[in-house]
Amino acid sequence: MLRLTDTMTRRHEDIAPSRDRLLTLYACGPTVYRSQHVGNLRTFVLGDLIARTGEVLHGWRTKLVQNITDVGHLADDTGIELAGEDKMLLAAREQNRDPFEIARHYEAEFRTDCSRLNIHPADHYPRASECIDLMIELIAKLIETDHAYVGDDGSVYFAAQSFPSYGALSGNRLEDLRAGHRQDAGELSAGKRFHADWALWKHAGSQRQMVWESPWGKGFPGWHIECSAMSLHFLGDTFDVHTAGVDLRFPHHEDERAQSESAVGHEVVRRWVHGEHLLADGRKMAKSTGNVVLVDDVVARGYDALAVRLFFLTGRYRQQMNLTWDALAGADRRLGRWRSRVAEWAEAPSAPMHAETVARFTAAFDDDLDTPSALVALGELEKNDGVAPGAKFETFAWADRLLGLDLVRDVGRPRNDAADLSDDARALLDARAAAREAKDWAMSDRLRDQLAGLGVAVVDGPGGQSWSRTGGTHE
Ligand code: AMP
Ligand code: ZN
Repeated sequence: MLRLTDTMTRRHEDIAPSRDRLLTLYACGPTVYRSQHVGNLRTFVLGDLIARTGEVLHGWRTKLVQNITDVGHLADDTGIELAGEDKMLLAAREQNRDPFEIARHYEAEFRTDCSRLNIHPADHYPRASECIDLMIELIAKLIETDHAYVGDDGSVYFAAQSFPSYGALSGNRLEDLRAGHRQDAGELSAGKRFHADWALWKHAGSQRQMVWESPWGKGFPGWHIECSAMSLHFLGDTFDVHTAGVDLRFPHHEDERAQSESAVGHEVVRRWVHGEHLLADGRKMAKSTGNVVLVDDVVARGYDALAVRLFFLTGRYRQQMNLTWDALAGADRRLGRWRSRVAEWAEAPSAPMHAETVARFTAAFDDDLDTPSALVALGELEKNDGVAPGAKFETFAWADRLLGLDLVRDVGRPRNDAADLSDDARALLDARAAAREAKDWAMSDRLRDQLAGLGVAVVDGPGGQSWSRTGGTHE
């Protein structure tokens, strides 16, 4: 039985599809006015791990929906109030580009980065800008049922007090929110009746781009309504698991929950699963902090993109993790070693999987995605001389369906034989590996030239340097 920590109950809860062995998942997606950093990707890996666990260990099918926020995400949406300028339009002005061009660019980059981390694609990636009708329909329904109202400023607001269990997810209480309410939130919120109400539809005001016609005049949707409209439309009025990073628990998910449940009259999300943040230099990775690392940065340093994924797996999703280049280097080395061991074991006679490792590995994943323990079980199998290589191969190949690390990638690839090298060349290769470790790129380049002189070509790739003979000096 798969168990995950539910933010709502604050306990481990059994996870199972509510119907037809189909696990339905909704993952809050990227805001596409900038690159997704590896922190964002950590949260997307969480959704992927849940889906893989369901598929591989429990034989479920999965249906995942992930929204693309290409409109309606205001620059200042961290607090209770939504105010400020739309992030897309801000980026468009700064870069002097069309906002939709920017959105499509970063959406494509997000899809590429996910695939570089072996995050299986979602079944649907609805774009906010293409779901305006769904949102308008939902807002109209909320007005009809007195959960929302048109404010004095022409914007539409959700009436927080109309939803009695508001705050149950995040632990906030309506009366406590007053202290944090911004008095200076400006014209966008001038028309609301209660401090904790939030905008579902914002009157366009002077905004000209990214505005749509609606029964309440030209305007644009609030951010929270997007996830309600899309999840209800694509997954129905009840779905199994909703994932995101902890920062979205409040106000985003509290508000989404109020909207969705008010619309259908019952709980929509069965389990809320929030991943903890990735930090860098001890602080939450965020563009505003200036500590972002992109998949491109990792690859530019010569590491395999999947070293990032392996690094994530060394921690549990409910714990913060601090990213360091040393930790990534370590993950990259382990990845390279496991791939070459798997390639070696693949050549041995086939044997059934090692049952004890499979059992430990399975129990670890089912236990609230205890990936560190799963990795320990594999590490012990690697070193266990009592287990036939063929069994190790089968076990690692199976485990990789959950881990998603391309561990069988090097099976069948020609391998270089170090015995084939002169002592000098071997010493130079070792020195170069050490230079790269010490980030002494100048030294590493000099050693590459010296090796070339000995007829050994070195390339840096995922998993470190590899070498081959250049023509003429060796048959
Ligand atoms: P955004 O593009 O900012 O809307 O974020 C997309 C997803 O990344 C959301 O689920 C966030 O909760 C999550 N996220 C943002 N920053 C981090 C971080 N430093 N570590 C982990 N997840 C994050
Ligand atoms: Zn969302």
